[in-house]
Amino acid sequence: MQIITKHYINGDFVGSHGNDVADLINPSTQEIIGQVVLGNEEDTQRAITAAKQAFKSYAKSTPEQRAEYLQRLHDAIVDRLDDHVEALVKEYGGPIQMAQYLVQGAASVILSAKEAVQNMTFKEMVGNTEVSLHPVGVAGHITPWNANIMYFCNKTASALAAGCPVVTKPSEMSALQTQVIMECVHAANLPAGLINIVNGRGDVVGAEITRNPDVAKISFTGSTVVGKTIARDGAATLKRVTLELGGKSPHIILEDANLEQAIPFILMTSFMNSGQACIAGTRLLIPESRAEEIKAALKQAVAQHLKVGRPEENDTAIGPMVSKAQYQRVQSYITKGIEEGAEVLIGGEGHPEGLENGNFVKPTIFFNVTNDMTIAREEIFGPVLCVLTYKTEEEAIEIANDTQYGLAGYVSGTNVDHAKVIANRIDAGVVSVNTFNHNPAAPFGGFKQSGIGRENGAFGIRSYLELKSVS
Ligand code: NAD
Repeated sequence: MQIITKHYINGDFVGSHGNDVADLINPSTQEIIGQVVLGNEEDTQRAITAAKQAFKSYAKSTPEQRAEYLQRLHDAIVDRLDDHVEALVKEYGGPIQMAQYLVQGAASVILSAKEAVQNMTFKEMVGNTEVSLHPVGVAGHITPWNANIMYFCNKTASALAAGCPVVTKPSEMSALQTQVIMECVHAANLPAGLINIVNGRGDVVGAEITRNPDVAKISFTGSTVVGKTIARDGAATLKRVTLELGGKSPHIILEDANLEQAIPFILMTSFMNSGQACIAGTRLLIPESRAEEIKAALKQAVAQHLKVGRPEENDTAIGPMVSKAQYQRVQSYITKGIEEGAEVLIGGEGHPEGLENGNFVKPTIFFNVTNDMTIAREEIFGPVLCVLTYKTEEEAIEIANDTQYGLAGYVSGTNVDHAKVIANRIDAGVVSVNTFNHNPAAPFGGFKQSGIGRENGAFGIRSYLELKSVS
């Protein structure tokens, strides 16, 4: 059993002032695999003070210097790829292939920020006025458990590229993964105070970061409800706030879609990361005229390709839910869907056979869903797909946009030009046509209640910069 007692502050591992302890539980077995000592306000303040001190010289660093630090951080993360993957699989039950994809993707985001900062213009003339970009100050980062390394890498890379030191509070459920990250940060040997990491709870460490006047900017990824609290609490000191929140993203299958391509795309977008993905395409909109054909194809594909099992096994597509609470939450939505009259095409309530000990859920597809049902409106964050039919494309777009969320959207269709027209009519920040391919240099973020601001590449870096006009 691994016991994590230290935070990473001012270039070193330091003991915690807080002494509450949280168990880390393997979601496949319910076995306690570790413990983490949680930090308190004092630990957080120490981290913020270290970052504030580091800002004095780092604010003056050149883009070349920042690019070099990003390269060092990238190399240190890549040196421990297997350890990141192992922690991720053990701690939150991410299927191993997904875990590998996430870790490699996370590292590549750092290089993308490096390239962006090398090509950015920090000063330009507008008439008689010199307009320049300046780092905003200490950045506070608060992240969820579902892809810890990804959020650490994209937020840290943007902040460092902009000239901002960071204080990160990862999810308290991600301490094993965070420990590997802290060791990588130490190995990268960056100036003390540039990256600080404090383990702890949201309402203690997260709240201190949000309220502390020495933090200039918050970047938060997590649920919409906590995002709103952070926006409210951060307003007292007018912090710049980037919020990456939840979603209920539509996937529109057009009349001319080729099912051989569309079905694997549907499985990927709706069940990736065992359905625990903010960008999951959980509302599938299909033409009424092709409903029977799509129904049969989906049923067969899920049975054939979506193996539920232990996340360390190579052929597992769906691992356990991160926690018992999350398992119960997903179960309650499945029950609700049945009560509301949706038809269970595949899956349903309870554990899959033979996997009763862990937080495993049967991948579930509901047919005959209407957009007013709870399962079509609320984010489930599990392997549950709702299928809705439409008669006309206008109706499909109307259903797609009839949601409080606007994070992602997907379109499958053979005529790509036409599919792009439809993609442009979906009110969402990240829309993909026929392919799942996130360009790490392109902006990432949501419309409506899926968030505020954008991350990644030059767009992400700009959110850590203030504009100054000197005439
Ligand atoms: P969560 O909102 O419960 O927690 C996220 C983080 O916020 C954790 O570190 C938590 O400790 C902290 N926190 C909780 N209360 C806080 C408070 N009062 N002040 C400050 N910090 C606080 O989310 P979760 O359950 O860890 O993650 C799942 C959610 O995250 C889903 O809704 C999902 O859609 C969302 N998410 C969004 C994105 C995106 O990029 N848009 C990506 C992944 C996950």
